[in-house]
Amino acid sequence: MKPLCPRTDFPPLDGGVPHVPDLVYLDSAATSLTPRPVIDAVRSYYETSSANIHRGKHMLSDLASEAYEECRFAVADFLRVRHSEVVLTRNTTHGLNILANGLPLTPEDRVLVAADNHHSALLPWQRRCVTERIGTGDDPQASYAAYRAALTAGPPPRAVVLSHCSNVTGIYLDVAPWVAAAREVGALVILDAAQTAPHRELDPVGLGVDAVVFSAHKMLGPTGIGVLWAGTELLESLTPTEIGGGTVDWVDDDGFRWRAVPHRLEAGTPDVAAAYGFTAALQYLRRTGMRRIREHDHEVAGLMVDEARKRDLSFLGDRNSSAERAATLSLFWPGMSGARMDVLARALSDSYGVMCRSGYLCSQPLVTRHAEGPVLRLSGYVYTGADDVTRAFAALDELAAAGMAS
Ligand code: PMP
Repeated sequence: MKPLCPRTDFPPLDGGVPHVPDLVYLDSAATSLTPRPVIDAVRSYYETSSANIHRGKHMLSDLASEAYEECRFAVADFLRVRHSEVVLTRNTTHGLNILANGLPLTPEDRVLVAADNHHSALLPWQRRCVTERIGTGDDPQASYAAYRAALTAGPPPRAVVLSHCSNVTGIYLDVAPWVAAAREVGALVILDAAQTAPHRELDPVGLGVDAVVFSAHKMLGPTGIGVLWAGTELLESLTPTEIGGGTVDWVDDDGFRWRAVPHRLEAGTPDVAAAYGFTAALQYLRRTGMRRIREHDHEVAGLMVDEARKRDLSFLGDRNSSAERAATLSLFWPGMSGARMDVLARALSDSYGVMCRSGYLCSQPLVTRHAEGPVLRLSGYVYTGADDVTRAFAALDELAAAGMAS
């Protein structure tokens, strides 16, 4: 299995990192590498415009404003939604906070939160209202039955917050039945698609969810920009938690008039350069083809699982072996402390040039419950080939022989 995209498109894989000529990058679920066209697009903002948006009437400001709105159109195209329903956020976490803090919720309201959610899809809700965790894990049928029971176990929940793909196990949730059940009790469905948007086609309207959030930096784009999509009615029902320049049409000494959505939810100067890069990233993904990316993921994930099984290594989501997974695998060694896991990740990095993540992956309740300690996550993407996976496991073999991975 070869990388789907040329490694030469990604500077760190093309000799860009001093002293690491043949780097293995397996931390894509945290942040993906950035291809040259995206880097060029970010640079072009500073070289050809570098102005603020939607404020000035001069040519450079017009150019930047147009490019910024072009990014909104590119996202709308990617999701097959209306551009006026795309809020450009800073990242997934920001989008989730806009929702949790903007919805008219009371501290007594119930919100169901999936057990495999990232902290960003838990904490904003936990702070605002009564949250109850719902399993989406190892036994899909039992999880779904428990979810249905939770929906009617008290006052109807106001929202259900789901992870489309777990950043820990890489396993996708079959969202449709979960949405249908939420509809029966009138709950909103909010989908964290941070790990899906990079890996396969995303169709929020087709899925029937009310809102979707994700980040550009996990899908070949720059840091500093993300997406919140929701229908117009829902966006209009949100109380903006930030207010200032860009959010209002008119201000006098006594008050102000909000701008229309999505602008009223985008306070202050955004990361304009990132919008240039995000448009280029979406073009790159389109050229590569989301279907091919999904197939490639499947191969990478299959190889990772095979290599882990060959060695009898424990990994999260093992029991759910028939489920589709993104190219993400979290290994663990029962009883290994956080400090030893960090040493292992450091040794992989510094002695073998293999970059992967260790710890609780911002999903501490889930990781603690199932691994009883930290994990080591390998996560690939379009630039990952079989060599990367086999090199990572060969390095682990050597570290195991040295007593460091056991
Ligand atoms: N949700 C999931 C599923 C994630 O994987 C991540 C990033 N690890 C986030 C939310 C948070 O993303 P960001 O840091 O870009 O806000």
